Amino acid sequence: MLPYPDASRALATPVEFPDESCAIRSFSIDTRTLRKGELFIALPGERSDGHDHVIAAFRRGASGALVQKKRQDGVVKALRQEGLTPRNILAVEDPAAAMASLARHYRDGLSVKTIVITGSVGKTTTKEFLHFLLKQKYPTLATEGNLNNHLGVPIMISRIKPDHAFAVLEAGASHAGEIDYLASMIRPMSAILTPIGPAHLQGFGTLENVYRAKTEVLRYLSTDSPMVVPVHDERLHQLLRDSGKRFIRAGSSARADYRFSDVRVRNGMVRFKVNETSTFSFPGQASFLALNATLAIALADQLGVSIAEMPPEWTDLELVSGRFCETVLPNGIRVIDDSYNASPLAFATAIEAFRKITANGKKILVFADMLELGADEVCYHREIGEKIALSGIDAAYAFGDRSRNSIDVIRERSREILDARHFSSADDLVSALGKLLRPGDLVLLKGSRGMRVEKVLAGIERIGF
Ligand code: ADP
Repeated sequence: MLPYPDASRALATPVEFPDESCAIRSFSIDTRTLRKGELFIALPGERSDGHDHVIAAFRRGASGALVQKKRQDGVVKALRQEGLTPRNILAVEDPAAAMASLARHYRDGLSVKTIVITGSVGKTTTKEFLHFLLKQKYPTLATEGNLNNHLGVPIMISRIKPDHAFAVLEAGASHAGEIDYLASMIRPMSAILTPIGPAHLQGFGTLENVYRAKTEVLRYLSTDSPMVVPVHDERLHQLLRDSGKRFIRAGSSARADYRFSDVRVRNGMVRFKVNETSTFSFPGQASFLALNATLAIALADQLGVSIAEMPPEWTDLELVSGRFCETVLPNGIRVIDDSYNASPLAFATAIEAFRKITANGKKILVFADMLELGADEVCYHREIGEKIALSGIDAAYAFGDRSRNSIDVIRERSREILDARHFSSADDLVSALGKLLRPGDLVLLKGSRGMRVEKVLAGIERIGF
């Protein structure tokens, strides 16, 4: 809860139509999900302008609105025309920047310990693991949905309550400087860097810039803040050594401070050992998530939930949809949905995990383009094609202009053993799948979110035998 007079001081702007009977419960930028007592932030935009939704916000019980100065009079007039009483209006030049300032101000008044999770792949799952472990012992908040950017992070900060001991906040980025901006609001006491790889190269330019961007968080960590990183990344370690900050390594190599081993997938659970002695398991088939789980175990152990106190079976951990989740459809086809996102590192890892899963029927990869890879996108798609060709699967069907490059390579390399086909649309691909698939077949779905590969899942569901 942030009182309106406080918000007014933080933004150096008066509260118009003050109503001191209410305070800011948290922030909202979307009236469809706004909860009673929230401050509605009207973001100007071309497609949808938040100022057109202030009426809806008040109807849903907003305690006030943050608007652009030049739109204030119009907003007040519109509210009155609708018979609504304007209250707690804060007018600023730039509502998004003002929301960030309010988040900084609110965060500074809290004693919560914040943890930032960033990296190229595995942020969301690592966050879920850490949230699960910390909340066994402490009241803990974690990023909800995809609220991990310059708008989502301040919203998440506004949801931290005074009795939260920890807040696990995910920070995503596609440009230099973004992590710095987010960390300036989060003020992390600790961090996890998940694996770094070529993702969002369109914005970052080079892989070196990706490393630089992800390590922007360092400047906000004190020298004794625990930061957990994957053990296998020498390039990252060099950067960290140069920074003089304290880092803890997790991974499968003998050099790791927290070492995982003996990863097995059985009966829908991934089981693994940490430091030879403790066995843990979580639901799913995604063996590669043992690394993410170990990153979380390492930090939770450092923050006061010791390994001995952690539950061995994480059965009530909620898996996030679209991240290597298996469903057996009523028509008997098994689908692993990993369509939430794709970058070369995530794709290669998913292929490797898919290779290890056994199926009674055929194994088929359905994929679409990896987006935002910049000038080298053809090269990255050809490299993935090489990996698919060697993966021992039965068929690879793809749509999207860029993935044609992967299919070409698969055809060259696999010498027709593997049925590789490219389609001009997801619908054509689904029609072809209708002829190929039989009950017991296993399908992996992969592609960048923008390609909407999950459409194929709906198509596969409709196949009848
Ligand atoms: P993010 O939030 O960074 O996008 P997620 O945890 O949602 O990451 O996982 C997205 C996808 O990234 C997964 O479906 C998987 O394909 C890939 N991924 C996750 N963890 C790893 C990992 N440790 N190594 C490689 N790829 C991974």
